Amino acid sequence: MICSPIFIKLQALISWLRRSVVLSVQRAFSLGVAGGIALGSLGLLAWQAAQAGPPTITEYVELAGPSARIVPYGQLRIAGRRVACGRRPSVMDPTFDSWGGAYPDQRYIILNPRKLRGLPPAVKLYIYAHECGHQFRGYDEDTADCFAIRRGVRRGWLDSKGMDQICRFISTLKGDSVHPPGPVRCTRMRACFNKVLAKN
Ligand SMILES: [Zn+2]
Repeated sequence: MICSPIFIKLQALISWLRRSVVLSVQRAFSLGVAGGIALGSLGLLAWQAAQAGPPTITEYVELAGPSARIVPYGQLRIAGRRVACGRRPSVMDPTFDSWGGAYPDQRYIILNPRKLRGLPPAVKLYIYAHECGHQFRGYDEDTADCFAIRRGVRRGWLDSKGMDQICRFISTLKGDSVHPPGPVRCTRMRACFNKVLAKN
């Protein structure tokens, strides 16, 4: 997830978080999602402590409250482009702790439209593609980043200007136990970008 700074308070939870997304009880069901751009703040109690697994999309929107809505596959537009991640639906949740998130075990993506607002198109599309990367490639952040960059080049929404915008955005993030520091991610994404360009 490209999450805004979310603080994991218990280091012991990290490995568990890597396997699953956690619903924060602390913020009355705001979410911390493993595998996002950054991790969201985490309550000490988690959804999974009481439930069998990460929330389904229906459970998610019920818990997130009336401002969250499901966008079915085929209907999502970002920066004027129709986008898709396989056939996965998305949840637009303005209360979500980060820009985006994904539960790889549950086939949907979460976006925070409030946080995305005002970002350059390439950054918005990168965020969505990064979360999509988690859906197909798992929890590793660098892998999800490169997935997004590759997709951006191949689908025509990412050029060197967009790469600069992504770097400006990501470089402000400090990173956490799961996410490398933003400047490191920028460097790695530029390397991925150049590699993809060289192949095209
Ligand atoms: Zn991520």
